[in-house]
Amino acid sequence: MDGARHELDRPDLAELLNAVMPRLETFLAGLEHAPVDGTRPSSTVPEFAPPDESGSELETLLDTVDSALADAAETAGPGYFGYIPGGGLPSSAVGELMARVTNRFTGIADLAPSLVALEHSVLRWFATQFGFPKAAGGILTTGGSQAMLSMIVTAREEHLDKHRLVNGRIYLSDQAHRSVQKAAHIAGFPRHAIRLVPTGDGRRIDPDEAKRFIDADRAAGYEPFLLVGSAGTTNSGSVDPLDELATLAAEERLWFHADGCYGGFFHLTSRGRAALTGIERADSITLDPHKSLFLPYGTGALLVRDAGTLVTAHSDEDPADYLQDLAATGLVDYADQSSELTREYRGLRVWLPLQLHGVAAFRDALDEKLDLARHAHDMLAKHPALDVPESPELSTVVFRLRDGDDDANHALFRRVNQTGRFFWSSTRLDGRFTLRLCILSFRTHREHVDAAIAEIVRNLPDT
Ligand SMILES: *Cc1c(COP(=O)(O)O)cnc(C)c1O
Repeated sequence: MDGARHELDRPDLAELLNAVMPRLETFLAGLEHAPVDGTRPSSTVPEFAPPDESGSELETLLDTVDSALADAAETAGPGYFGYIPGGGLPSSAVGELMARVTNRFTGIADLAPSLVALEHSVLRWFATQFGFPKAAGGILTTGGSQAMLSMIVTAREEHLDKHRLVNGRIYLSDQAHRSVQKAAHIAGFPRHAIRLVPTGDGRRIDPDEAKRFIDADRAAGYEPFLLVGSAGTTNSGSVDPLDELATLAAEERLWFHADGCYGGFFHLTSRGRAALTGIERADSITLDPHKSLFLPYGTGALLVRDAGTLVTAHSDEDPADYLQDLAATGLVDYADQSSELTREYRGLRVWLPLQLHGVAAFRDALDEKLDLARHAHDMLAKHPALDVPESPELSTVVFRLRDGDDDANHALFRRVNQTGRFFWSSTRLDGRFTLRLCILSFRTHREHVDAAIAEIVRNLPDT
């Protein structure tokens, strides 16, 4: 292939894809037994050469890519239980390839109206799943954090006087994801504007305690405007009492946001729906299709009960002069609903897997994860050396050594990781080092969970 030319004619494109395909097939076929952590010591991270004037040979380049790919935790594999897994559906990547080669501009609906409508159909379907009204809207983002930022800006616009932003106060539990605080910080709220309500029973926020915080702030002249509930915490998968929080927010006239980045899509299952009762009353919901819809990294979502609120918060009052040729399509421009103008087209990477595999495939996989977490909990709880205090609400199991301090738990964590049988990450709960399994990859099944538990048990002190 002539590397100096940009344009690929048909055989050249096929040649490129034909060179990549066997590598991807080998990757996928090897996932079951791939090393769970292929990262090399940082001293061996290579220096990558700058691009050559006349281009380089494709196979050599792909070898470089393969070697960089191997220097990583196997986040796509069935043995990945760290942080929040997902797996990365190949069908989504195929949709992405089509979106990239065709390179449609979807920031302004007029330039690709049907694709904008296709993406909108995905958001509409999400909104319907959560019982949101017809007036609901939303955007697909790069991830939950970006969605969170748009949410805070929207809540701020709806509920706070522009000239009194410093008085605004935000309420969330001490178990809420850091992205809420980060977004608030970026949106201009100082750290003390964020009230972390201590969690009680089951690591859930106590609405009465939240109300005490709100009352105290009002008495001191501040302006409470946003209440965030966790629809599944990253730490332990606990779900805040969303229905009670919705009532509190309504009484206090606060924007109520439900963070469903980890747990939201469990709403597709009947158990998940029961656990997330009240989420349908939220003003907004953040979701992460790259977690609980198993998509490759890079897709989050924000849903809002009233689509107009997104536009008010993100649009410019006077349209730019250089956009004067654009006609009204009747579709709201994504540029007016997010901080982006030029954007990657995200619709196809969600639409294709949902349409191709069908909703039941996702529901069944999520149900399986709920079963697996329960199974992991029961197996671990049987072991006298382990303290497994909570039965999982979603698909995360937390536990510790019954007679062991932080160091002992940390040592167990490292020993198990060194076996290379599976990948996990730890957290801190009640100020103590805590072991944690998050089961969410679509590739993780019973045999993988059993193997992980066997490895944990084998590495317990004195066994
Ligand atoms: C992952 C996560 C986020 C942040 O989402 P990113 O996609 O990582 O930016 C927010 N909230 C919860 C509960 C999460 O698990």
